[in-house]
Amino acid sequence: MDYAFIAQILDIDGITITRVEIEKDLIRIYLKNSKDPECPECHSKNVSIHNLYAREDIRDRSFSNKKCYLDIETRVIVCHDCGNKRHERFDFVESHAHQTNRYKEYVAQLGFELSVSSISIMEDIGYKTVEQILKSYVHKRQPSDLQNCQRIGIDEFSNRKGHKNFCTLIANLDKSKPLAVLPDRKEETLRRNFSSIPQKQREKIIEVSLDMWSTFINIAREFFPNAKIVIDRFHVMKHVNKIMDKIRIGDCKTLNKEEKKHVRGIRWIMNKRSDSFIQKEREILKYFFTLAPKSKKAYKIKEEFVWTMDKTTDIEKGRIRLERWITKVEKLQTKKSLSFVKTLRKLLDYVLNYFHANTTNATLEGMINKVKVIKRRSFGVPNPYHMGMRIFLGFEEKKSLYSIM
Ligand SMILES: [Zn+2]
Repeated sequence: MDYAFIAQILDIDGITITRVEIEKDLIRIYLKNSKDPECPECHSKNVSIHNLYAREDIRDRSFSNKKCYLDIETRVIVCHDCGNKRHERFDFVESHAHQTNRYKEYVAQLGFELSVSSISIMEDIGYKTVEQILKSYVHKRQPSDLQNCQRIGIDEFSNRKGHKNFCTLIANLDKSKPLAVLPDRKEETLRRNFSSIPQKQREKIIEVSLDMWSTFINIAREFFPNAKIVIDRFHVMKHVNKIMDKIRIGDCKTLNKEEKKHVRGIRWIMNKRSDSFIQKEREILKYFFTLAPKSKKAYKIKEEFVWTMDKTTDIEKGRIRLERWITKVEKLQTKKSLSFVKTLRKLLDYVLNYFHANTTNATLEGMINKVKVIKRRSFGVPNPYHMGMRIFLGFEEKKSLYSIM
């Protein structure tokens, strides 16, 4: 029987299919190279075939629910020019792999949406195998992301909702792609990660954007000697919102049942920018402020920060405005606001650097938001390692699963 059409379906050039076995739930395709033998090392044709060797059970994409395996007759080639004896290589499958390249790509694409165990069940392959495929897929993409990268971001996110175990995201801000996801935010973990980047590459980094977390700042200064350290507005804002939230919670406790009913959603409203309000939200806010003057004050302070960061382009003007703003925050006299003011005064120069480099801010915030969406898709107990892979895959460009068949 002529199996040429199967080679066509497989879309692999230069092979001959010798036999096809079809069973209830699997297809086994036997194939061999149809090209003249050549030395895998020096490409000389002055070779002889030492023996034949069968590479069995190479998994490929399924044919309408039948798992597909390739059995590849592989020639062991002796080269008379360079003297090497080698197995011949195929470009659709790596030398020691048990899956074709396109099958691995397919599994990686599934990894964009599904957990390791779901893929394992769905495809009937081992859990460790799925893990391995995803890991090497992620790994292959990492080094290229670092090349020509000039600006990086470091940020934390909680691994589990409501839990205080944090992971660290290190991002290439030029490309909006993750560089690494670390299982915690400990100094030694960060140190180990950054030590693995060659010094030359680290010296090329001109900007590091990060949170008001002293460990991050110290590490960034040590490992990126030429970088401007920027605490971007998004991070300052996070703290401002927390201060405001605390005051709002205190104020809400003093309201009666009827009043509470009228200020439903106030938390989200206060966290919004005032220029994005709808009429109803503006009314709720106005009503709430008649009952809660402290919250009104805190809200005004938050809005002043937004305005300052939006409207200031000049670093000296920024310093004057922010210093004035800080004294207002100080006057709130809450535990949170006082410790924030203390930290902010110490780190003000880094916040001011934002005005030098205010091109990046949206990216890190956007990336962290994307991480949150990816996290929500994860089922089961999140293991920080899988979380990391999931995040990398989540930032890859999605292709149609059919286009990689
Ligand atoms: Zn050779």
